[in-house]
Amino acid sequence: MLLPQPPRLALARLPTPLQALDRISARVNGGVDGPRIWVKRDDLTGSVLSGNKVRKLEFTLAQALAEGCSTIITCGGLQSNHCRATALLCAQLGLNCHLILRGSPAGDADGNLLLDQLAGATIDYYPAREYQSNLDHYLHEAKADYDAKAQPAFIIPTGASDGIGVWGYLSACEELKADFELAGIAPEHIVCATGSGGTQAGLTLGAQVFELGASVWGINVCDDEAWFLNKVRHDIQDWAERYQADFAVNSLDVRVIDGYVGPGYAIAEKPVFETIATVARLEGLVLDPVYTGKAFHGLLSEIRNGRFKGASDIVFIHTGGSFGLFPQRSELAQVLN
Ligand SMILES: *Cc1c(COP(=O)(O)O)cnc(C)c1O
Repeated sequence: MLLPQPPRLALARLPTPLQALDRISARVNGGVDGPRIWVKRDDLTGSVLSGNKVRKLEFTLAQALAEGCSTIITCGGLQSNHCRATALLCAQLGLNCHLILRGSPAGDADGNLLLDQLAGATIDYYPAREYQSNLDHYLHEAKADYDAKAQPAFIIPTGASDGIGVWGYLSACEELKADFELAGIAPEHIVCATGSGGTQAGLTLGAQVFELGASVWGINVCDDEAWFLNKVRHDIQDWAERYQADFAVNSLDVRVIDGYVGPGYAIAEKPVFETIATVARLEGLVLDPVYTGKAFHGLLSEIRNGRFKGASDIVFIHTGGSFGLFPQRSELAQVLN
């Protein structure tokens, strides 16, 4: 398939390493034969830009610039990694950044929010109920204000997950193909945390376009399987329409592993924190309680339950999120000794 060439900025540190987690693999397999777990270190896409969002924003911000915009408006939770990456990139590119956040800070800003403030973003806070019912209105109202001030604004949807953002992980699949060749592996499965669907959408499309021969699984950290089956297809459909790609979206194999959301988005139970501590101690790899810790905990549980029986190699995408660990220091402290 011949891919169109969308505008792109070089913002992420690429390629990121692919690394085997042999001590974790040995532990989860309990001495018997089992899959080798690998991690694609997309937590290393940048220092303060760490994580998956900068891959998408290379395309999203290029589009905003191509449209002549000087202001970026986006939205998310108080500890949104996407908002933090956007705020810092706007500063780097000399753009205004306006964030619409769900919730209000209690006490001093921490984690991602502290970095949003440091980067000089303008921030509006809305209680969860208002945010959920009026988000679109808030985004467009802010845009109208900037447009009227001759500071044309571009709205980026939650997580930069739309047809533009799909490019981030569609292009990452070309990188993965080279990683697999270099490592001499043919992984049967690729697993990521899914929060707004764009990473999974890009991977699902890219695995097919670049013939990776692996199944892509998203472990959702909010909502449910039905919601993401629809959202992932929707983002790929949007991609196909925007770029006039002749692609049969219905032929895609979209796979969601539900069951690891726990008490709710950004709330994790003790076993997730225990997995975070174990992975840090055995591998020196830091996961977060909102996305990667929950999803990696889910991956280990699914390996134990036999879902990936017979697989030789599984690749987990480390999508970043480490700043989200700090605001949950007291939950984490309960598993440290
Ligand atoms: C946003 C995010 C995800 C989820 O990616 P989506 O494309 O929104 O599904 C996973 N991990 C981290 C750390 C994130 O910030």
